[in-house]
Amino acid sequence: MSELAQRMARAIRFEGPLPLSVVMTLALHDPKCGYYASGAGIGAEGAFITAPEISQTFGELLGLWLLQTWKDQGRPRKATVVELGPGRGTLLCDALRTWRREREYLDAIEIVLVEGSEALESVQRARLAGSAVPLHWVRQWSDATVDGPLFLLANEFLDAMPIRQFVMTDRGWCERMVTTDASGKLAFALAPQPAQISIPPGRADAIPGAIYEVSPAALALIEDVARLIVAYGGAAAFVDYGYSELGFGETLQALRRHKPVDVLELTGEADLSAHVDFAAVATCAATAGARVCGPVAQGSFLEALGIEARSAQLQSANPQKGNEIRESVRRLVDSAQMGALFKVLALVPQDAPVPPGF
Ligand code: SAH
Repeated sequence: MSELAQRMARAIRFEGPLPLSVVMTLALHDPKCGYYASGAGIGAEGAFITAPEISQTFGELLGLWLLQTWKDQGRPRKATVVELGPGRGTLLCDALRTWRREREYLDAIEIVLVEGSEALESVQRARLAGSAVPLHWVRQWSDATVDGPLFLLANEFLDAMPIRQFVMTDRGWCERMVTTDASGKLAFALAPQPAQISIPPGRADAIPGAIYEVSPAALALIEDVARLIVAYGGAAAFVDYGYSELGFGETLQALRRHKPVDVLELTGEADLSAHVDFAAVATCAATAGARVCGPVAQGSFLEALGIEARSAQLQSANPQKGNEIRESVRRLVDSAQMGALFKVLALVPQDAPVPPGF
């Protein structure tokens, strides 16, 4: 067993079974054995590769998107730009390039990077050194970070928020826990007592065996962001893979070097993530008073923002890399690749114009 699995098994012996959210949090963020704590994992060499690492057009277009929402909302003189989970800092690096000549915007904003991993913060600091705008790092999201208009980007952040799972049984909804089996290894088991949870409307008719997955942490964060945007103005774009139908099913997965592995292996080399429940996110933001745009497919969002024109421009500037540029853009927009599974959901105040791409 891995070191983290052993530690978890020990905790279970003392405290009893743990919810999946605890296992996921430790797998990702344990300071010694957590996947993000090592800082290694994103990109061609890591467990998975993300859109900004595939093509510079992704960060550029999201940068222009954010700038446009700032202009559409009357160019507030002071604003906070937040990126949640900046990874290797690539998205922001590409976005900053598109903001270079926007003096008024650059003078108005400060940038806050919410990064849980010290190692990834170092990668980001190196990547963004010499930025024209002051950058601040915080380890955790907190609504106290923001006291004015908020312009926020998050790519593949919500999928890393810890989830809980409940399984419909003849006793009611029982939580899926992690415990130890007879040989002392980590194993899944259902809590014997049903949980007192309320299933959102539209999902009431579950048959036995149905799995209800929810990320309380993701929903709490969405509620914060929506409330701030309603109170102060601003815009947020969440890009992630996920589903928008109301439904049941489990989506927790562990990826190691781009290949699925056992969720409970906990080697620290695998990324644990779950598909984002966009219907739950949208309901939560709407309840907090925000105008919810989308979710729309990443492919159509990027096309509406002009990804093909930008791709053509890059190809003619770098003819020897023409194919590579074309292929990487295709990977982002093609519905058989990332174009349909990945979705974009935006939040703005009720009276703000619909942002580009929706
Ligand atoms: N946005 C980047 C990286 C995605 S990976 C990209 O598209 O390439 C997820 C990122 O979120 C990592 O930087 C990880 O360290 C960070 N992260 C995950 N959960 C977090 C949390 N609860 N608090 C702060 N940062 C978190």
